[in-house]
Amino acid sequence: MDQQIFASKPNNSKEPWDVAIIGSGPAGLTAAIYTTRGAASTIIFGGEVWGGQLMLTTEVDNYPAHPGIMGPDLMAKMREHAQMFGAEFLQKNVTAVDTSVKPFKITADGVDYFSKSIIVATGAETLWLEVPGIKELIGRGVSSCAPCDAPFFKDKKVAVVGGGDSAMEEALVLSKYALEVTIIHRKDTFKASVAMQEKVKSNPKIKILWNTEVVKVNGELRLESLDLRNNSDNSISNFPIDGLFIAIGHTPSTTVFSGKINLDEKGYVVASDKTKTSVPGVFVAGDVEDHRYKQAITASGFGCMAAMDCLTFLSEIK
Ligand code: NDP
Repeated sequence: MDQQIFASKPNNSKEPWDVAIIGSGPAGLTAAIYTTRGAASTIIFGGEVWGGQLMLTTEVDNYPAHPGIMGPDLMAKMREHAQMFGAEFLQKNVTAVDTSVKPFKITADGVDYFSKSIIVATGAETLWLEVPGIKELIGRGVSSCAPCDAPFFKDKKVAVVGGGDSAMEEALVLSKYALEVTIIHRKDTFKASVAMQEKVKSNPKIKILWNTEVVKVNGELRLESLDLRNNSDNSISNFPIDGLFIAIGHTPSTTVFSGKINLDEKGYVVASDKTKTSVPGVFVAGDVEDHRYKQAITASGFGCMAAMDCLTFLSEIK
């Protein structure tokens, strides 16, 4: 791809950027591709650890036109693509946002930046179990996304941890490929909706281990087994398994937006008209609002929508 700069930078530090994008996952970087191509000067606050959840993934098989690409490679391509059109990328964490002033003020690393608009694309973090061995095996048998990884477990034995709708959904997706799916839940009732529970309970491939918790994840190069504790009698057993899917919830990354834009009770950004937050000129994209689909491709599409709405906003305030 040839270098094609569409968006120039502000001439000095007092002149505001047209768009400040906070977050550098698929939502933020896709938004940047659209805002720069819309000739809007764009700064991305990518975070010290940039790239979002795909940086923790190995093979990605469901991003169109990139079958088999490694997650970090896909994100590097997206970053390069956004920068090619003139987006400025700062690998810094935002520590404060002031949406009560115009232009908006964003602080990162002790420096204030000003922007006429903001796209919030900070994503949500997967909650992982806090047990020994799990972090080392993420992408090596441990996953949090059945729609992404289920085909890698054809005719294998897999387990899902959790008792909410996500766990039910993961188990149902996995049952289309796996030999056997075991839901491991710490209580003796599910939190999930009755409809989802019924689908799970009537699926002959899905078994449920009630009152059970994973206390250790074992494996050298790949996941091999789990140590399980039965909460009724505290006994420990070993459970050989090929795949482990964690579905115990997500936490949206919205600490700096608390009190600045409307958040729901779980901390997700509340949007109206798809991408608009409670503050005109501040838009949202990706998993920081969407707790249903949580896919790279939906986040990218959401980033595109936020950018287009943001460009319309900028044309209206000119
Ligand atoms: P939830 O918070 O609803 O459920 C999390 C589950 O994980 C609970 O059963 C909880 O156990 C369990 N859990 C939490 N921490 C631990 C831990 N440390 N160890 C073991 N188990 C743990 O999260 P979901 O992601 O399932 O759902 C989030 C929201 O998204 C919900 O509102 C849900 O309805 C919605 N959703 C809707 C879907 C749909 O409509 N198709 C699909 C997916 C999600 P416990 O029960 O003991 O608290």
